[in-house]
Amino acid sequence: EPGIVIAGAGHAGGSAAAFLRQYGWKGPIILIGEEALLPYQRPPLSKAWLKREATADNLALRPERFYTQHRIATRLGTRVTAIDRAARRLALSDGTTLPYSRLILATGASPRRLGLPGEALSGVLALRTAADADALAGVLGPGRRLAIIGGGYIGLEVAASARALGASAVVIEREPRVLARVAGHALSGFLEARHRAEGVELLLEAAVETIEGEAGAAAAVRLVDGRRIPCDAVLVGIGAVPNDALAAACGLEAGGGITVDLAARTSDPLIHAIGDCTRRPLPLYGREARLESVPNAIEQAKQAAADICGRPPPVPEVPWFWSDQYDLRLQIAGLAFDPAEAVVRGEPESGSFAVFHLAADHRVLAVEAVNAPADFMAGRILVSKQRQVAPQLLHDAALPLKDLAI
Ligand code: FAD
Repeated sequence: EPGIVIAGAGHAGGSAAAFLRQYGWKGPIILIGEEALLPYQRPPLSKAWLKREATADNLALRPERFYTQHRIATRLGTRVTAIDRAARRLALSDGTTLPYSRLILATGASPRRLGLPGEALSGVLALRTAADADALAGVLGPGRRLAIIGGGYIGLEVAASARALGASAVVIEREPRVLARVAGHALSGFLEARHRAEGVELLLEAAVETIEGEAGAAAAVRLVDGRRIPCDAVLVGIGAVPNDALAAACGLEAGGGITVDLAARTSDPLIHAIGDCTRRPLPLYGREARLESVPNAIEQAKQAAADICGRPPPVPEVPWFWSDQYDLRLQIAGLAFDPAEAVVRGEPESGSFAVFHLAADHRVLAVEAVNAPADFMAGRILVSKQRQVAPQLLHDAALPLKDLAI
């Protein structure tokens, strides 16, 4: 019997293997990963790992013995190069083929490329893998200056880590505010002030024209308006693109992510897809989106494993995400699609507050909490129940939210 093959040994793929065993799958499981490492967590790569506060054991999703104990075969350093759906067989980068009875695609996403001159210079880095993080760590230290292209989560986390390591950091963001795609104005403004107070230079509405080199190495970022930002290295953090080419090439429905349903099924009944490579339904919001987060990778791993093991699909979760910068723990639940109103609860100056995003009918769409775990948890429940709450009730920090959230 060929068994279940999981293509991609990241957070989603590693979790799916574990859930399959937990839900009682007895047959073979083969986990194929292009990277040489067993599944590991990426969030620390821009945070504790970069600051050298974590060990390889901290990074690993599960210890090596877990895979032997649970008879999960791994083939690392190996890439799936093609899927033959008719023959139910994969082609691998080592020249061999591998049959499957079921296939789970968990190929993740890759850093979006800048597509501008100078990108191939040495010292122009991206951050996705542990190897990337080690290369980045090598250019951070006292007296070094890192230019970060992109004021998204990864760019801001790396800026905070760079400061902790004594390096200077300049964040170059094309939009008028950081986190423009993913956060509301209040959170963006708060984080901009904090990063500036920590000595990070923030250039907003700043478009990059090229990266300039000296002797083959990045030496400066040239902006469209002519400004030249000297630096020792450049981190490109402008988002990630889903690794869906393998799926598209064998005719699975894909486009900006592999299309899946709430059981993580693709358009082929024998193939599931999970994690950053997918485009999935969001039942709370009545639309589809690509979610790039650990909680989503785990949720979809559960969906696929449950479906394969003949269990009912798990109850859909509220999408959530976290980020750590300096001593700030950001926790975000829900997605602020078409928000009508933002309500701030607590005092941003105190360093602990939450922002609730409401629809026109006062339904709670999302909460962004900064060092406010109770507001995050209550907000997550309000979002999951699609509760309508009067803005003044959310605003009044003297009123406990947990009463509203029941
Ligand atoms: P990945 O973890 O990327 O795994 C995919 C794996 O598949 C990779 O190892 C890849 O090499 C492999 N692969 C690809 N193609 C093939 C192929 N053809 N054959 C074989 N193998 C293949 N999320 C949070 O929720 N909170 C955070 O704070 C946070 N911080 C982050 C910080 C950084 C620096 C990064 C990069 C991400 C962060 N994320 C965070 C996002 C989170 O790590 C991802 O959402 C998660 O890793 C997705 O899991 P995945 O398994 O879908 O993809």
